[in-house]
Amino acid sequence: MIQETNTGSGLIASTVDAHLRYEREQEGKRPTAFGTALRGSQAYNCARKIGFEMAQVNESEELPYETLIAFHLGQAMHEKVQQSLTAMWDDFEAEAPVDLRPFGYDISGHADGLFTIGDKKYVLELKTMTAFPFKLALKGDGTTTDSPKIEHILQAGIYAYGLEADGIQIVYVSKDASYRDGVKPGMTLEFRFDMDDVVPSVNTTVRELVEQELSRLKVISEEVESGMIPPRFVPDEGWIEDPPRYAASKGYWRCRYCVFNIDCRALPTQAVPVEASTPNIQNSWDPPATEFNEHISFYTSLDDATEEEAK
Ligand code: SF4
Repeated sequence: MIQETNTGSGLIASTVDAHLRYEREQEGKRPTAFGTALRGSQAYNCARKIGFEMAQVNESEELPYETLIAFHLGQAMHEKVQQSLTAMWDDFEAEAPVDLRPFGYDISGHADGLFTIGDKKYVLELKTMTAFPFKLALKGDGTTTDSPKIEHILQAGIYAYGLEADGIQIVYVSKDASYRDGVKPGMTLEFRFDMDDVVPSVNTTVRELVEQELSRLKVISEEVESGMIPPRFVPDEGWIEDPPRYAASKGYWRCRYCVFNIDCRALPTQAVPVEASTPNIQNSWDPPATEFNEHISFYTSLDDATEEEAK
């Protein structure tokens, strides 16, 4: 008997792994829906990571085999929900294109769905997830109540803003089981907000959250356009002074899964000019031409405001 116990290293798994990597390479760097600098799915992410993505910097980390497989599992569930809604509802539009340029933002994307309830139009945002984040959304973390994540509210909200919809419907589907937490594969959670509803965890309306995030994304794209690598700053975490290594067991979670980890850690926390960065960044930095070329440091003004408060 030949037993290959290391995950991803058996004959079949290594062949599938090679094929999935080949497919990913062929897909290349996916253009945004309308060729804009940014996409709505980047909402609430790390400013530096958004900058690297916008400038099409080569990734310095390789995704693990398990992540590649899990991505396809999630995508299959995602498509099944969209197919069901398309079959059952006359007015359901899957992958509705969204262009925020008419509103002054160089951002586009595809909403997972667009549908109506009565005379109101809603944007659907679907997320498949493992049991742990699903449990948090279902029960809260002990200090919070059940709620969708702010980044998901923002992604749907940005698309609703661009489509002038009345609200958003966020749907979570669990990909796996945690019987201890009462989570089963296929369990589905739904949250609906109108644009002017208050999100309890932040006591701000969806529309206000969206407008704040659109302004932040605009500043990030201006920084990149002016040849600056944005700082390590994430809305839900603040400044990231000492990011953990890729796939580390502890530390801030976004960095542990960030495909730009090595290049990012070689740089200081604050914004830095491309000329002062790593060879990989300098050789692959290629942001799309945009109408924004004036460098405004949002982060400097944040620092100034904090200093003022401290005085
Ligand atoms: S490693 Fe962390 S701080 Fe650096 S770009 Fe990635 S998410 Fe941002």
